[in-house]
Amino acid sequence: MATMKRRSTAERPIPAFGNPDLPPQGAVNAANRASLTDPGPQNPAIGSQFASAQFPPATDVSDMPMFWASFNNAPKRVQNGGWARQVTQYDFAVAEEISGVDMRLTAGGVREMHWHLAAEWGYVSYGSCRVTVLDEMGRAYVADVKEGDIWYFPAGLPHSLQGLGPDGCEFLLCFDDGRATEYNTLLVTDWIAHTPPEILAANFGLPAATFADIPLNQLYIFQGEVPGPLEADRAAVAGAEGAPPYPFTFSLKQSKGCKQTKGGEVRVADSNNFHISKTIAAALVTLAPGALREMHWHPNGDEWQYWIKGHGRMTLFDAGPKAVTQDFHPGDIGYVKRAHGHYVQNVGDDELQFLEVFRSSYFADVSLTNWLTHTPPAMVARHLNIDEETIAKFPRGKPEIMPL
Ligand code: MN
Ligand code: MN
Repeated sequence: MATMKRRSTAERPIPAFGNPDLPPQGAVNAANRASLTDPGPQNPAIGSQFASAQFPPATDVSDMPMFWASFNNAPKRVQNGGWARQVTQYDFAVAEEISGVDMRLTAGGVREMHWHLAAEWGYVSYGSCRVTVLDEMGRAYVADVKEGDIWYFPAGLPHSLQGLGPDGCEFLLCFDDGRATEYNTLLVTDWIAHTPPEILAANFGLPAATFADIPLNQLYIFQGEVPGPLEADRAAVAGAEGAPPYPFTFSLKQSKGCKQTKGGEVRVADSNNFHISKTIAAALVTLAPGALREMHWHPNGDEWQYWIKGHGRMTLFDAGPKAVTQDFHPGDIGYVKRAHGHYVQNVGDDELQFLEVFRSSYFADVSLTNWLTHTPPAMVARHLNIDEETIAKFPRGKPEIMPL
């Protein structure tokens, strides 16, 4: 690395930083401008979505496993009543801890009664939905959720989902296992259809003929009637066992775990405020145009992201050094391995919103600024070749989102 005579930080112009590592990499090195052209086959509609892959920032270096995926090109399984599409580790190799499903249910559309091995965390992105779940103590729970609300069903607990009026819902599901698939759930119709009639008769204490008309194939998603009032459903499922001790649903918009700055806000839901959510923690991040989700990392889990609105740009940093930048748009998925440094900038003209989802009971992040302002200034000054007076101007506390 070339040594540079220092002027005080304030009087120096912002340099066009090149990648300091060898071999030189990046468009900044292209003295022959033909190095930047791309005359071969291409699809501008897709290519234009990835400005920072086409022309990486000069500070990017080396490569990383692909950390961009999307629901936009995930095949839909369409049925009468809605559809589902998913991105699991089979599609997205880096995503070891969490898989994701995007599902639409019409008004009255039902996601069949089922259960599965993974815990399920849901986020409503549109409309409203009725959820039912039963815990292992026989305590039933029914609730209506709307845009911005979340739910959590612990592994193995049986549940159902149904779209409400006027236009049903769309929602995100996260499973706490990258290999969990939405098409490998245990369905009530499958089990009933694959149980001998005399066993059904014995199990339910009714004549075998009762089951003469059961569906022989799974329903999965089907069109039903819009359910009646919530209170009626609640009364219908109430039993001597009482209600579960903690709700299975939560309003992220009303979360008190919220940090706001001029640049935007971070709303957290984890087992501290959404007690049932023992294996998933999440943060809903909203950034104003130009704002930055600060340089940080997470000590306790991989970050799975769902991009809800706007245009964001994220750079990941790992040992090596490695630094790779990608662009994200609504319906996209991002993934950051535990402890990898990263930041997100809103590079669009509109509000940017995305979810950070973790396989953990709690949300945790380490802020670069917070670290540098809680280390003896002389130590930091020696590392960065920046004077202590300037270091004293770094933001205090943990900004989360800049500007403050
Ligand atoms: Mn489920
Ligand atoms: Mn993060």
